[in-house]
Amino acid sequence: MATTNHLTCLCGAVTEPATLLSSDELPLECVMCHCNTCRQQTGALAVSYLKLRAPPSEKSLDNVTAYETSRYERYFCKVCGCNVFGHDKTTGGWSACSGTLEAETKPAKGKNVSNIKSHIYVGDPFEGGIAPYLTRIADVEVPCWQTEPGEDQGPIKQEKLLGLREKASKASSTARDEMMQVACHCGDVSLRITPPPYDEHSEDWYIGSDHSRYYARLCCCRSCRLTLGLTMQPWTYVPPAQIYTDDMQPVMFGPEAQEVVQIKALKHYQSSDSVLRSFCSTCGATIFYQSFERPYVIDVSVGVIRSTFGNALVGEWLEWDRKMVSKRDEAVDEELIQAWLQA
Ligand SMILES: [Zn+2]
Ligand SMILES: [Zn+2]
Ligand SMILES: [Zn+2]
Ligand SMILES: [Zn+2]
Repeated sequence: MATTNHLTCLCGAVTEPATLLSSDELPLECVMCHCNTCRQQTGALAVSYLKLRAPPSEKSLDNVTAYETSRYERYFCKVCGCNVFGHDKTTGGWSACSGTLEAETKPAKGKNVSNIKSHIYVGDPFEGGIAPYLTRIADVEVPCWQTEPGEDQGPIKQEKLLGLREKASKASSTARDEMMQVACHCGDVSLRITPPPYDEHSEDWYIGSDHSRYYARLCCCRSCRLTLGLTMQPWTYVPPAQIYTDDMQPVMFGPEAQEVVQIKALKHYQSSDSVLRSFCSTCGATIFYQSFERPYVIDVSVGVIRSTFGNALVGEWLEWDRKMVSKRDEAVDEELIQAWLQA
């Protein structure tokens, strides 16, 4: 059986030995939460936590910022913004975000590092978010709960899940606001994005087939995983000239973005010579990825986009690529990715 190595964020300010996990056998079990709070506080589409035996070390806790939500205290790395821990204020239990797990021995080819036992709070996003696409992972049924077991009548029926997917596809043709709204959970980072500037001749890797919507896909690379804290980073690709502050000032990008304080809560982390990642320093949500080598497009984290209709996949603005994900060779939850691509 493969052994796990350690838990870490990308910058390494937060690290814990694998012995802190409640089990050391891969794959680890977890539950995936689709609630609006989890999404808006991380920038992910959904969040899964791994149970810990004990609280993290003092050293790790010195390097995180805490963000309070109703039931949980959520912790992210002060330096790189990675979502790392959750603390359940009711039970006192601690958990780690599943993407922080670095496996010493990779899971067997095509397997998962963490296995999702159930989807919870699928009723929170209007169209169920990504959950209706992940109901069968590696030939195992994964139940979806409106809220969570114990507070619920029973798992959502198959017909209703298909209905949710129908809602998601209909969202693409619904009337939408003039601009796409971006806001993290705390609201300290709040932006507006104008509609795509494309015409019928526009063509590039970041432009989909529907030129009225922005193209979106999941990234599985290690550095996205270790700055998000989760194994699937949802990005949509937006030309920088379309991105504005709430008072319609163009948002500044490029290396100089680090020197100018335009949005007070927006903190940057340079993850390589040419890559700058930005997150909310109050709640920890991942906001942007920018590569100085391709300054014509900025990656915006989909979990912080606010759909007028309460859709998590924001179908009225985004066209999802379900034929490919970025950096599939770096995926740690391969079966999960397969479910998304085939479902
Ligand atoms: Zn870090
Ligand atoms: Zn949640
Ligand atoms: Zn990536
Ligand atoms: Zn925030």
